[in-house]
Amino acid sequence: MKYIGLLLILLAGPIWSQTDDKEQLKAIYNASLAQGKAYNWLNYLSNQIGGRLTGSVQAEQAVEYTKQKLDSLGLDRVWLQPVVVPKWVRGVPEFAYIESKPGITNNVPICALGGSVATPSAGIKANVIEVNGIEELEKLGRNKIEGKIVFYNKPMDPRHINTHEAYSASVNQRSSGAKEASNYGAVGIIVRSMNLRLDDYPHAGGMSYGDTPLNERIPAAAISTNGAELLSTTLKLNPEIKFYFKQNCRQLQDVKSHNVIGEIKGSVYPDEIILVGGHLDSWDLGDGSHDDGAGCVQSMEVLRLLKLTGYVPQRTIRVVLFMNEENGLKGAKTYAEIATNKKENHVFALESDSGGFTPRGFSFDCPETDFAKILLWKPLFEPYYIHLFEQGESGADIEPLKNDQIVLAGLLPDSQRYFDHHHSEIDTFEHINKRELELGAATMASLVYLIDKYGTASENTGADK
Ligand SMILES: [Zn+2]
Repeated sequence: MKYIGLLLILLAGPIWSQTDDKEQLKAIYNASLAQGKAYNWLNYLSNQIGGRLTGSVQAEQAVEYTKQKLDSLGLDRVWLQPVVVPKWVRGVPEFAYIESKPGITNNVPICALGGSVATPSAGIKANVIEVNGIEELEKLGRNKIEGKIVFYNKPMDPRHINTHEAYSASVNQRSSGAKEASNYGAVGIIVRSMNLRLDDYPHAGGMSYGDTPLNERIPAAAISTNGAELLSTTLKLNPEIKFYFKQNCRQLQDVKSHNVIGEIKGSVYPDEIILVGGHLDSWDLGDGSHDDGAGCVQSMEVLRLLKLTGYVPQRTIRVVLFMNEENGLKGAKTYAEIATNKKENHVFALESDSGGFTPRGFSFDCPETDFAKILLWKPLFEPYYIHLFEQGESGADIEPLKNDQIVLAGLLPDSQRYFDHHHSEIDTFEHINKRELELGAATMASLVYLIDKYGTASENTGADK
């Protein structure tokens, strides 16, 4: 108790000592840019292992590889946390065409949406009804929809500067379009890819049938944006054209997988946990470099950078690589459940899951008093062109930890190119810039350092312990 009392006195005084902190941030950025490991780790994850669909061999290889890398960092503890996860497989590549007249066809690129059922083995051919989002189904009514393929063609709105907002405004046609269309007797759905530009890559992504009975579930696929434009134009010329698609994806039995966890024990408040993480699983079309290999290696790098710069954390700094963010969030839910059962005290959690692009800042989901305290640190980041400190969402994997006390945050990289790659076959390593990735890791490590040193506003900094 005496020791803690003395410590509290030492900690009192100016809330932050600018010179020390400036130097520590500089040391972190220097270490990341000159001695960083994140890029090499990601190279292995992307090019030696590849896409890491939940339940796949590659996902398990990624668990082993990242655990082994964490083991090599000399952390206090590294472990695997078992998680039961869904296993959906794509099967053979999908095939689709527009039939403008009998025998006159144009092939278009599609991919099954994650969680979708297969088409019958001969495929589905039907007339198409185009809608600009789920809201239009009701207006059309069952008469105009029954027996047809619903073509959701609501584009992402290019006027949003933050492209995640454009994504949020359109993505419900992908996530629940099949469930809604089946209520009106549709036989399948084709969804315009969540992509702001026109190209030939279909973008995968999760979807859910909700409580739709098994035998009423209809197949769902994404079409490239160029394919969507062609289909829309063809339909305007002749609403009687047909669309054909074939896919043989399926949902298998759940399997066992793991979250990968490592930590440095806090030297003063070991029971206060600061979490940093990303998700290890990805879609299968690309190698998941941006979504979210980048976030995983950056999170691992945070612990390494703190050690490399000789910083001894007061609180426990824990890296968590979550499994199954893309199609179930089972890793995130299991982690939060275990944390609650063990009565673990998470004071801060930071996720990087918006790509490995140039960092711009953070989005904070926390009480006002915490945000006010964090804003005081903003000038420390400005030399690194980090200027966005916003209130908003954090990350899907850390959201289940939310309570009245915790500060949740998400790294905000520049979002302009993210949806060119997101969930598509061009989410690959050659689209990662080494410096941008490293700046992101350093930015995360800097915030973790400040939170560790000064605590959050809501937490009890040990006075009653
Ligand atoms: Zn992601």
